This record gives sequence, C-alpha cells and structure tokens, in this order.
Amino acid sequence: MASANRCSVCKTRAGTCFCPGCKAYFCDDDFQNHRASLFDELNVLTSDRNDLHAQINEVSSNMQTDKQLAKVDEWQRTTIEKVKQAAESARQQIMKIKNSKYEEIAKSFLALSQELDELRETKGIVEQDIVRLNQAARKLSEDLKKCAQSSEIELNVKQSDEIDWNRMIYVEKNSAFADNQSQMNDKQRLSGCTSPTKLSCDGHTFPCLRLNSDCANELLFGKCSEEVSSNM
Ligand SMILES: [Zn+2]
Ligand SMILES: [Zn+2]
Ligand SMILES: [Zn+2]
Repeated sequence: MASANRCSVCKTRAGTCFCPGCKAYFCDDDFQNHRASLFDELNVLTSDRNDLHAQINEVSSNMQTDKQLAKVDEWQRTTIEKVKQAAESARQQIMKIKNSKYEEIAKSFLALSQELDELRETKGIVEQDIVRLNQAARKLSEDLKKCAQSSEIELNVKQSDEIDWNRMIYVEKNSAFADNQSQMNDKQRLSGCTSPTKLSCDGHTFPCLRLNSDCANELLFGKCSEEVSSNM
C-alpha cells in the first residue's frame, strides 16, 4: 500500500477511511476516534447553544428592569421635581410682591383716614388739604387696582414648547457596539484603500483603514483580523 494511504494518526495501519472534512486517511480505529471527537465538539456547541438560549430568555425577561430605563425614570422624576420647585418659587415671589404692595396700600390708607379724622375733629380744613387728600385717595384707588390685576408683576415664562425636549433627553446607539463590518466598509470606501497592512502582532494582516491619506502603514483600527473577529 502507498505510504500516502497510511493512517494519518498512527502512521502504521492502512488508511482505509477518508474524511472529506479534513481530507485525511484513517485506519478503522482512528477513524472512529476522529468521528467521536467531532461529535464531542458538536455536543459542546449544543451545550453552548442551550446556555445562550437561557441567556436570551434572561435578557428578555430583564428588559423591563433595564438600567437605562431606570435612569430615564429617575430623570423624569427629578425633572418634574425641579419644575415643581421652580413653579413654587415663582408663586412665592408673586405673593411676596403682592403682599408688600398690599401692606404699602394699607399703610397709606391708614394715614389718609387718620388725617381725615383729625381734620374733622379740629375743623382745620383748607382748600389745599382737599386737593392733596383727593390726590392721595385717587392714587390709593389706582394702586389698589394695579395690585388686584397684578399689573406690576411681570411673569417671564419659557413655554414648554420652546424647550427642546429632544435635546433634554435622547438616546444614541453606542458607537463602540455598532456593527464593525459596516464601519470598516465605510472607512475603506472613504480612504479608497484596501491593501493589507502589516501589523505589530507578528504577521497578521488587516486592510489598511487610514482615512483621507496615502497608505503609510499607519493603523487606524489597530487590530489584526483574528483579534477583530474574536471580538465580534
Ligand atoms: Zn490509525
Ligand atoms: Zn476529518
Ligand atoms: Zn493603505
């Protein structure tokens, strides 16, 4: 028998069985072992598949308690709280201004009343008093009207439709987790260069991904193809 047809494992017995996968000849015993080891690997894969299935179920059942969703809830809660605080502060400022104006009016009214009573009692009234007290009474009436209408208070409001809510909170896909392949293709298209570049990791090559420049063996991606594919 030709030496090429000896068993590729024990190298002594006849290679009577051919594996179309690895294109090697085996003796009967070693072929059985070869098949068994392939099935072992298949069993490992099946076990990995089952683990993956459990992980998928876990992730999908945890979807509602996602950390990012909790952060959105927290943002909503604190933002509403800040809106309430700002509104409460504005209410207090309005009341403060109105109260002080009201106190001022009440004080002026008391002074006017006292003077009128005094003039009635002393009968010391002259024309100038009538004019002055008339003016004072009219001013009090106007101040009271302004106070009732809050026309002395200017309320500055940024209406909620003026706020760019889409910039207050928004979601972006993290670029570190974006599809590597499509990123590579974009960069290759931009640079127009797909020539392999020698990497520092001993001979592995990966297409040069330099942008907008001639190839100078400078790495943009910094990983050999094996490292990249193992990260996917
Ligand atoms: Zn053998
Ligand atoms: Zn094989
Ligand atoms: Zn290049």
